[in-house]
Amino acid sequence: MTDLGTPVLDNHLHLDADNRGIDAVEDFAHLGGTHLLVVNKPSWHHGIEADEGADFRPVFEETIDLVERASEVLPGRAWPVLGVHPGLISRLVDDRGFAPEEAGELMRAGIDVAAEYASDGHAVALKSGRPHYDVSDAVWEASNEVIRHACTRAAETGVALQLHTESTEDLTDVAEWAEAAGLPPERVVKHYASGELDGVTKSVMCDKEYLETAVEVGEPFLMETDFVDDADRPGAVMGPKTVPRRVRWLQEQGHDDAVRLAHVETPEAVYGIDTRGTLDE
Ligand SMILES: [Zn+2]
Repeated sequence: MTDLGTPVLDNHLHLDADNRGIDAVEDFAHLGGTHLLVVNKPSWHHGIEADEGADFRPVFEETIDLVERASEVLPGRAWPVLGVHPGLISRLVDDRGFAPEEAGELMRAGIDVAAEYASDGHAVALKSGRPHYDVSDAVWEASNEVIRHACTRAAETGVALQLHTESTEDLTDVAEWAEAAGLPPERVVKHYASGELDGVTKSVMCDKEYLETAVEVGEPFLMETDFVDDADRPGAVMGPKTVPRRVRWLQEQGHDDAVRLAHVETPEAVYGIDTRGTLDE
């Protein structure tokens, strides 16, 4: 196993016991990866048609189980991120005839269940967001209501919040909602971000240009692949080896400070996790 001399965290990936599962974690660790934040897959990937918050439980349970197994093979450990994928609103409204407000209610109930797991120590962040594609005003507003609810639950529970949003470099609107809910905006993370972002913390996709920008900007950031572990879309996203490869690439260019920022300091500030102290667990 490669040792890059630093914790190496992929801040957002998915694992699926029926696909590559723990093999993907072994690939990550082999190249020097040490820690993972594993985000539950969208409920419909499990063939679950959610009708109430409790329907999300098996989805969350599977992620918690995979995280335990991943932690056994990592030099560090993994942690779960639990929540409701924002794309669910379109499935509910377009395919199942929900009114946007009703769909939002169901999604808020899912967030409540995720917050229950988090308050029991089973997640370091909740997951919410809004569609990245064009939607009606009613669906947009209902989605924003779900985000505000997730901010409140994250604040109460004392965990962070990962967001899936439209592609943007400005989430100051969400930062204000977080602030109003008592959640420090720096504990809100936009996943799938580019190298620059106002308002909340960015989790930068491991594109070299994005990373160069993030290093130049110098603000707190995280690194991710959004690996989906989906046999139907093998080339759709970055593989699990990408974060350790990019860390090595940053080190070769002398960016050790940026590596420490993304893999030690920002994870501590956002999630309260100690990537150095958990290296021997
Ligand atoms: Zn994802």
